[in-house]
Amino acid sequence: MAELANFLVIGGALVLLLALFPVNQLRRRLPYSSCRIAWMFLSVLVCLFFSGYALYALLFWNEAQQWHDLVVPVIFFFGAIFVLTVCLLSARTADDVTRLCHLEYENILDPLLGIYNRRHMDRCLRSEADKTRRYALDLSVLLIDVDFFKKVNDTYGHLVGDRVLLALAQMIKGSVRDFDMVFRYGGEEIMVLLPYTNSSGAQTLGSRLCQWVSERSLLEEVHQGQPVNVQVTISIGVSTFDPAVEDEGEMVARADMALYRAKKNGRNRVEVADCAQGETFKNE
Ligand code: GH3
Ligand code: MG
Ligand code: MG
Repeated sequence: MAELANFLVIGGALVLLLALFPVNQLRRRLPYSSCRIAWMFLSVLVCLFFSGYALYALLFWNEAQQWHDLVVPVIFFFGAIFVLTVCLLSARTADDVTRLCHLEYENILDPLLGIYNRRHMDRCLRSEADKTRRYALDLSVLLIDVDFFKKVNDTYGHLVGDRVLLALAQMIKGSVRDFDMVFRYGGEEIMVLLPYTNSSGAQTLGSRLCQWVSERSLLEEVHQGQPVNVQVTISIGVSTFDPAVEDEGEMVARADMALYRAKKNGRNRVEVADCAQGETFKNE
């Protein structure tokens, strides 16, 4: 029994010494703050515990019974403080992680339209292009531009223009699959990245979006005392990634050229980009 007690006390003391390493490493990585002070307090508690174990072993071996009775309650008391400190630190760490997740999410969103921003678009384009290249998948892109949007701003004002863009972005986001990604490309331009989608699938989606937008009013407004439905149309350029001959930037450039063609050919329509090798796809 005495051997087992010795083993437990010495083993526990060694475990406490080991615990000091990660605690101190973590403390050194933190900026000077109340959180760092709390971790410092935790390492002091670990040292106190270690001293308690050492004292206990000393008294046990010297059979000093009167002190012996006090050591166990003292260890219990500091044990409770130790547990409380760890719980408070865990709650604090959970708060920090939540705040970081929130910041990270805000960092990739466009604040006006609630869709991903251009910075996130560049990252996603790169990673989706890599995936498509490595596993020989399909990847397409839609570049969407609102037709005569300046006229909307001029007629109803920029605030209404903002709300029209928001309604359009949300409508597009609600019309695509969960793993499709919707980004604000520029002012009133939206890009949709379509993994696992070939050219005809992307063209079908583009035509459907064009039709839905032209048939609906995106916003009901009171203009000069009269209720009006604000309606717009969109033009779309479609391109499909050809990893053998181009990079993702060239795919976007081809979608841009197709969008330009859609504008030139009368707007409210979809145009599919010439393929990267120079053959032409059949236009809508
Ligand atoms: P089209 O594309 O059919 O050739 O005509 P357009 O009138 O849309 O032409 P253009 O692309 O030159 O104009 C885009 C307009 O969109 C101009 C700019 O003031 C407006 N715009 C860009 N970003 C925003 C925005 O965030 N809010 C509002 N309200 N307007 C914006
Ligand atoms: Mg426009
Ligand atoms: Mg534009």
